Amino acid sequence: MELKIKNPATGKTITELQADTKLDVQVKLNTLRKGQKEWARKPLKARLDCIVKFGELIKENSEALAAILTEETGKPIQQSRNEINGAQNRIDHLSQYAARWLSDEVLVDSGATHEKISYEPLGVIANISAWNFPYNVGYNVFLYALVAGNSVMYKPSEYAALTGKQFEKYLHLAGVPENVFQCVIGDGSLGQTLLENNFDGYFFTGSYATGKHIAQSVAHKLVPVQLELGGKDPLFVTDDVLDIKQAAINVAEGAFYNNGQSCCAVERIYVSESIYDAFVDAFVEEVVSYKIGNPMHDATFIGPLTRGQQIEFLDKQVADAVSKGAVLKLGGQSLEEEGNYYKPTVLVDCNHDMNVMVDESFGPIIGIQKVGSDQEAIALMKDTAYGLTAAVFSTSEQRAMDILRDMDTGTVYWNCCDRVSPNVPWSGRKSSGLGSTLSSQGIRAFVQPKAYHLRVL
Ligand code: NAD
Repeated sequence: MELKIKNPATGKTITELQADTKLDVQVKLNTLRKGQKEWARKPLKARLDCIVKFGELIKENSEALAAILTEETGKPIQQSRNEINGAQNRIDHLSQYAARWLSDEVLVDSGATHEKISYEPLGVIANISAWNFPYNVGYNVFLYALVAGNSVMYKPSEYAALTGKQFEKYLHLAGVPENVFQCVIGDGSLGQTLLENNFDGYFFTGSYATGKHIAQSVAHKLVPVQLELGGKDPLFVTDDVLDIKQAAINVAEGAFYNNGQSCCAVERIYVSESIYDAFVDAFVEEVVSYKIGNPMHDATFIGPLTRGQQIEFLDKQVADAVSKGAVLKLGGQSLEEEGNYYKPTVLVDCNHDMNVMVDESFGPIIGIQKVGSDQEAIALMKDTAYGLTAAVFSTSEQRAMDILRDMDTGTVYWNCCDRVSPNVPWSGRKSSGLGSTLSSQGIRAFVQPKAYHLRVL
């Protein structure tokens, strides 16, 4: 079977890739199982050297790779470059910290019984991935897994399959053996095939619905399952913010970068009533300035949506909000021309009866709601099934911390948003996921401890 790769800016087919079959998956899995043993026996330094080399190759070819990413996902070219360059910090993080978190820990080395922990790879892991930031979310899993001594079957999203093939090409060129990393091509049905095979861990990035299905499907295997899922991330602008215009610029970028197709995009905004009108004006002024158009142009900030079917979903969110009293300040419809373009959309005077304040939009649309107090903001921010990130803009650190401590989310931000760093864990709570990538936790996610009790006779 062929997988058609389409350009979301034009609707035209870029190419067709041969999709992997059930048999291909079995054959590749057997190969990966053999390769993993030898890979794990290599010194950590040798595995890291391959990953560092991979990073160098990606850098050398970044312009061509950015063009591929933009062509298949519609991500504006400057944002593709940013992603490719930015993802390099995962490799730097591994170079700096992998030895610390993967080396044996000796707890007792005197007396009759010595005790230590060694960290062994899981084995062959399945990495089922998303299309919105394939470098970031891909690296978070497959690079960390490889450095820890696992072999990886990587299934890129069907919307980022060309980029997935590039990962495979450059990893092999960098010295990662073919029987240690394999990319498999296909849609959700191929993902399903991975679930039906016996991997030693499932690492997934994508929607809540698919994540839940994966966790349920593989539960009986009793292997690690990690899920990085969606969010409905709130941001609160308090009345002590001095530079409202600057705050509006930063918050708008958090909402509209990558067309809002970021798991940690700002998805709903609460504003103290005394600055509400000023904030809305500044916010709208900023969003109006965004250049929408051909994603291959350097100046474009809003390109087409990656998936055309999202347009209908966004239309419904707008209609629902307006029917319940929201005011449509900007956008609210797709562009007439070809391609999956949707106008940046700002809805104000929103409330939680509206779907746009509750369900992940994953597009260039934002709802803004007025609040009378910090307590009201806290209650609204917490009124969600998700738990990925939450943000507060305030001049008072104390005020922000009092709010952020109360959030049931894996990440909190003060005067920033839509940000990921390899130094700290990336994790979602509740419907936003299970487990952590990045940081020490994200390195240890790919190993299992073995306890040694050693008695010298
Ligand atoms: P998706 O769930 O539609 O698809 C993700 C992957 O799962 C794809 O590779 C797809 O082919 C595969 N898949 C689909 N059905 C499957 C099945 N039955 N069995 C196994 N695999 C299956 O998600 P998406 O549209 O690619 O990504 C968007 C979602 O991902 C958003 O909700 C976003 O918030 C979330 N996301 C989260 C993070 C994070 O780090 N928390 C990062 C990026 C994206």
